[in-house]
Amino acid sequence: MIIHLKENIDANKVEELAAQSKSIALKTGSYTRLITSSSIKELPSFLDDYTDEFFTMASDIQLASKDYRSDIKEIDFDTFKIGGTTNNTVLIGGPCSVESEEQINASAEHLISMGLKTLRAGCFKPRTTPYSFQGLGMEGLMLLVKMREKHGLKIVTEVRDSTHVDAIIEHSDVIQIGAKSMYDHGILKACGKQNKPVLLKRGFGTTIQEFVQCAEFILSSGNPNVILCERGLRTFETKTRFTLDLCGVAWLKEKTNLPLILDPSHAMGHAFGVPDLARACTAMNIDGLLVEMHPNPKVAKSDASQQLNFEEFKAMKNSLDPIANAVGKTII
Ligand code: PEP
Ligand code: MN
Repeated sequence: MIIHLKENIDANKVEELAAQSKSIALKTGSYTRLITSSSIKELPSFLDDYTDEFFTMASDIQLASKDYRSDIKEIDFDTFKIGGTTNNTVLIGGPCSVESEEQINASAEHLISMGLKTLRAGCFKPRTTPYSFQGLGMEGLMLLVKMREKHGLKIVTEVRDSTHVDAIIEHSDVIQIGAKSMYDHGILKACGKQNKPVLLKRGFGTTIQEFVQCAEFILSSGNPNVILCERGLRTFETKTRFTLDLCGVAWLKEKTNLPLILDPSHAMGHAFGVPDLARACTAMNIDGLLVEMHPNPKVAKSDASQQLNFEEFKAMKNSLDPIANAVGKTII
């Protein structure tokens, strides 16, 4: 249940009411919401005098539910917006990892040449083996900062664990929480206590309910700027790296009020399928795409098989424009 308290109830009283109702108090300006478990279906009588309005909810997808707020949240990337009433589909491109200044600068320049605005690359990589490239860490993050300063691009990068969450929050424009960290409550709460947009990826073995409940940790900690990202599930199929859950995307679009980004690169795991998937995703009228691109994918230090080269990325982008237009969107 989401309870809108009357305005200007003093802080001690709010704390007392929150404790008594076993709820989270979420303060926005002069008004406070109490959020209880969705299993509570009747307003506790001690809240009668303090309540303006309340919403009973079907499940613990609460703040993110269209049953609570039907309009899609608008997310401000500072130089542009996605979601809300905008018609933007943001094409976020870049290599899997920052590898060198030359490599990331060439990638940034390629995005700029296509009129794109958002660069994504990992610095703290959550690898599946300790014996492979783990990312450049802080050195990589500073190279991304340099790309923002030099090219005016917005930068997206992933936080792998709580040891560097503050650095990522300080230096990136959008904080990516990866599939393997979706459940890291330290990261979720730290991202909830600040206001930069958070791109939350769905874990590859998690249900939609579990995924959106992780978004609820961020939302209920005070940050409304959450973007959901579908990047593929582990299924019995092994020919592709994961299975992109487009049915799940249709469900999220219908039932949740958060912008949605799709990542065909990590889902497919092979460059050859990525442009087709990106076109299918664009046709679903989504808010963004995350596609890996590298100046020379053959020598990439991570995810070499799935990264598009510059020509492939450009051809894909050109093919997306008319599809986006057909569903009322513009690729930016
Ligand atoms: C990534 O975006 O580079 C990444 C590691 O993806 P995921 O968290 O989806 O595996
Ligand atoms: Mn990758």
